[in-house]
Parts: sequence; C-alpha cells; structure tokens
Amino acid sequence: MTPAGIPPADDQPPLDRPGTRTTAPSPPTPRGFVVTVPITAPAPVARLRTKDAFALPEAPDDHLVIRSIQTHPTSGTRLIINAHGKGAPLTMHPEEPVLPIRMLRTFELTCALCPGRARRVLDLVLHGTPHAWVCQACS
Ligand SMILES: [Zn+2]
Repeated sequence: MTPAGIPPADDQPPLDRPGTRTTAPSPPTPRGFVVTVPITAPAPVARLRTKDAFALPEAPDDHLVIRSIQTHPTSGTRLIINAHGKGAPLTMHPEEPVLPIRMLRTFELTCALCPGRARRVLDLVLHGTPHAWVCQACS
C-alpha cells in the first residue's frame, strides 16, 4: 500500500496547511505580552494624580492637566485640584466623576510564567491597568 494514488492538494494555498510555515519569519514580538483591564470612564476624580489629564463631564473638550492635587485643609472630604489653564483651583468631592484623558503610571510587572520582572509605564486610559504580563522570553 502506498499513498501514491492520492493527488496533491494543490487547491490549497501552502500557508493554510499546518507545518508549512517554516520559512515565514515570525512577526516582530513586542517586549512581552500584557493583559490589561481598561479604565472605565467616567472615573472618580480621586484616581487622578499630578500630571494626569482629564476633562469635566460638562466640558469634555476642555482638557485639564493637573499641577497639584491635595486634600482640602479644612474639609477632609474634598480635594483641591490645581490645573494648568485654570485660574482658580477646583474643589471637588473625591467621588465626583471626571473624564480621564491621560493617566501615566509605572508598574512593576512579574512574568506569569517565569521569575522575570520589568518596569513599564502605561497609560491607564490608553492601555489600561496591567492584569497579567508574560515576558518576551516566555511569549
Ligand atoms: Zn517569563
């Protein structure tokens, strides 16, 4: 018995058959692989930090960059927010919703598959919060 009677499957493009991609270069691998959880908008203003950018829901096109954010000196349940472009500081309740625009954070990530570690700067708005990370060697 020989398989000689079987005609070659020349009606299939080679790349569709498994095991024939040995010559195709693997796509450029980014430095590892991050699973992220996107931030939900609007977010409470208490999540913002200095240098974050946000907008108030009533003025979504007016982007504000935080110069400083601090607890109100007499009312501990309020925050005082100094923003570039705003003459007077904003006084807001920590749970008041804002539209986050840019929230850069540095994360210490540990590979889910090996002890590898890395430090990454991610934008919570653009990238989301890292949930799991797999390093370049493991991905
Ligand atoms: Zn790893």
